[in-house]
Amino acid sequence: MVIAVAAGKGGTGKTLVAVNLALALQRYGIETTLVDADVEEPNDHLFVKPAISTRKEVTVAIPRVDEELCDRCGECSTFCAYGALATTPDRVIVFDDLCHGCGGCALVCPAGAISEVERVIGTIEEGRTPEGMAFMRGLLEIGEPKATPIISAMKESLDPAVVNVVDCGPGTGCAVMGTVHGSDVCVMVTEPTPFGLHDMDMAVRMAEALGVPSLVVVNKDIPGDTEVKRFCAEHGLEIALSIPFSLETARLTSSGVNLVDSGEEWSDAFLSLYGRIAPLARSGGA
Ligand code: SF4
Ligand code: SF4
Repeated sequence: MVIAVAAGKGGTGKTLVAVNLALALQRYGIETTLVDADVEEPNDHLFVKPAISTRKEVTVAIPRVDEELCDRCGECSTFCAYGALATTPDRVIVFDDLCHGCGGCALVCPAGAISEVERVIGTIEEGRTPEGMAFMRGLLEIGEPKATPIISAMKESLDPAVVNVVDCGPGTGCAVMGTVHGSDVCVMVTEPTPFGLHDMDMAVRMAEALGVPSLVVVNKDIPGDTEVKRFCAEHGLEIALSIPFSLETARLTSSGVNLVDSGEEWSDAFLSLYGRIAPLARSGGA
């Protein structure tokens, strides 16, 4: 099973939910992998302290032009939909950052002047936490604009026999869509503020467009009627867990203490969240 933990923006408690859900499941005896797919700024490791045992580079193929063979016909730059090639009277310029590695330019080049070289764009690390939970994270190279090849490589490495709790990046961009796509369920983490509601609205639309069922966790929740609660009621979205806005919770999370380490009631709360997730998940749960 793949559970994507998403939020329309950063800072809503997405990592808090992913880490505590994964820990609660693993401790309950459900084999779990915590996957940090926030590849631009992964931080789940700070909360579960894994020992990394394997590192794998992720590469994309980018074109290189043999100027001896090239006759500047321009077919490659005309073909490239991403503007990654420019043909000048003197040479063909390749903009590596814009290239999506589709390989099409090499296919259309009539002179056979284009070959491909591999460029490292990031790393995937795997290991285990001290309590034996499997851990995976992706790391995008600094300055590298495209996270999706790393996300794709991570998804290919997921073990379908276990519960994979995937901490998505913030927002609803390509990398997050690529992460949520194909997941069995999406847990939307939000907070009861106008910004939280606006961004959750976008995230809910994204999950709907991808055909992934979703439910909601409200972080820093406050008592009484809120716009988030009304929105969820109007859209038939279940609020499966409410994490109250309290000094105690803020103190714990800001000092790096996992909620499930602070008391049995939090382990029960996250197991109960899983109890809501499993029937909703497209694969039917573990
Ligand atoms: S298609 Fe081939 S020959 Fe034509 S400009 Fe591009 S690299 Fe040169
Ligand atoms: S590999 Fe694809 S995206 Fe990259 S330069 Fe060639 S045509 Fe453009």
